[in-house]
Amino acid sequence: MAKKILIIGAGPGGLAAAMMLASRGFHVEVFEKKKTIGGSNSRLKLGDFMFDKGPTFLNMAYIAEDVFAYAGKNLHDYIRMIELTELYELIFDETSLKVTQDIEEMKRRIDQIAPGDGDGYLRFMKKTKRKMNVLVPILQSKMDKFYHYASWRVVRALPWLSLTKSLYNDVSSYFKDERIKQAFTFQSNYLGMSSWESPGLFSILPYIEHEYGVFHPEGGINQLSKAMAKAAAELGAIIYLEKGVRKLVLDGKIVKGVELFSGERIEADEVIVNSDFAHTMTTMVDEGVLKKYSKRRLENKSYSCSAYTMYLGLDKCYPLSHHTIVFANDYKRNSEQLTKSFELPDDPSIYIQNASVTDSTLAPKGGSALYIHVPVPNSKSGIDWDKHEERFRELVFDTIEKRTSFNDLRKHVVIEKTITPKQWEEDMSIYKGAIYSLSHMLSQLMVMRPHNQFEELENCWLVGGATHPGSGLPTILESAKITAKAIVKKEKH
Ligand SMILES: Cc1cc2nc3c(=O)[nH]c(=O)nc-3n(C[C@H](O)[C@H](O)[C@H](O)COP(=O)(O)OP(=O)(O)OC[C@H]3O[C@@H](n4cnc5c(N)ncnc54)[C@H](O)[C@@H]3O)c2cc1C
Repeated sequence: MAKKILIIGAGPGGLAAAMMLASRGFHVEVFEKKKTIGGSNSRLKLGDFMFDKGPTFLNMAYIAEDVFAYAGKNLHDYIRMIELTELYELIFDETSLKVTQDIEEMKRRIDQIAPGDGDGYLRFMKKTKRKMNVLVPILQSKMDKFYHYASWRVVRALPWLSLTKSLYNDVSSYFKDERIKQAFTFQSNYLGMSSWESPGLFSILPYIEHEYGVFHPEGGINQLSKAMAKAAAELGAIIYLEKGVRKLVLDGKIVKGVELFSGERIEADEVIVNSDFAHTMTTMVDEGVLKKYSKRRLENKSYSCSAYTMYLGLDKCYPLSHHTIVFANDYKRNSEQLTKSFELPDDPSIYIQNASVTDSTLAPKGGSALYIHVPVPNSKSGIDWDKHEERFRELVFDTIEKRTSFNDLRKHVVIEKTITPKQWEEDMSIYKGAIYSLSHMLSQLMVMRPHNQFEELENCWLVGGATHPGSGLPTILESAKITAKAIVKKEKH
């Protein structure tokens, strides 16, 4: 009889694992607490306007293609993938920079703002390509034993990993102008960290965007989760919605199955945790069972920042970039407010997704679906969002209207929703509202991150942002690949 795999959570990590394992003949059941699949990567519908709830930047689309190919499917049979020709627009003080994959044109645009830094860009692309080539095999392997650090793939990579440098320092060896440095370091936000604290090895993030481009699936990035759910079901996986898991059923340290909120117990041979790791381990496992990841130890770990997100249905479509990032005037101070001083930004950096310029399916004719994402501290800050939200919302509108060409935005809003860190924590079950999970400092990476084959419980596996290789959609899909392949291997032995 086929081995039974139970997956807690139908986020992108859980769905990728479900389709891969179902394709290998396992009996897969996914239990999702919410009414819809996709987790943070689900669709948010406001009237006739469609939004991505969370992720809006999709790069390394080839990793999603790999997940489908492993399961004998073709991603492009499910999704119409649109590659953006202009990747994004960056707004600094008085200047702005549109980012393109065309190397010569990009060099010219950089030199126009910061003469000489164009050559730095060419050096950055050449050198970081070598870093990427040695780093990828590490990110794709299990990395759950200290002796893996002595493996050839790691030893070979060491000179390229910039282990003693921060991302900011690493990038500073290529560029002189602070604005250009920002253009090649802001991607540390995807890890929920500042570029001054983020390890230098993450210079692969800007490289990846420039080299492999940025994609928009028609209908939004949520279509990726929808496609994986469809493919998983076609392969025989069963996805239960509104069936949340209350706790793991344990025999000592061996996971035997789960207990649902309804009280029903479901047995399984292997359980994969896709629900937020720290949330799961602090709420679904009795105290005293876990040592390395006990409640107290999890409390003391470092977590990513959170976000204040706004979803605006507009009666107008601004002919502006698909992705725009407005940098705080004092970007370093703003970065420190997010993860060091835990203050509510008074001069925030703001990301705006104006996907309707690329995709007409998201809003009624003539209108647009605008998504605004403002990095803010996680709940460790103690910020009282009930008290501060209204003022903060006004500050975000003021900043956008003053510093971008969305200069009469308020006038065009016909429908609106916001999500605060408190809601990311309470409604989406994300520990401390840290939307990019455990932070990505060296002491919480690779062997030091919770392992894909969870080291504290038997028959228990992890997928998602908290395990290796880390947060962000491509890495979450990699985590599902590592976990699924390890389960297949375990079955063979
Ligand atoms: C606002 C925001 C913006 C982001 N932007 C980007 C981006 O642009 N690019 C990028 O690459 N990444 C981005 N991310 C990070 C990351 O890619 C997403 O959060 C991604 O959806 C995480 O996927 P996941 O599979 O780890 O889990 P999740 O999407 O968090 O899914 C976990 C699932 O588990 C379910 N669950 C929780 N508790 C239970 C329970 N008790 N029983 C059953 N089910 C349960 C949840 O309901 C959820 O469906 C963003 C995240 C957020 C929140």
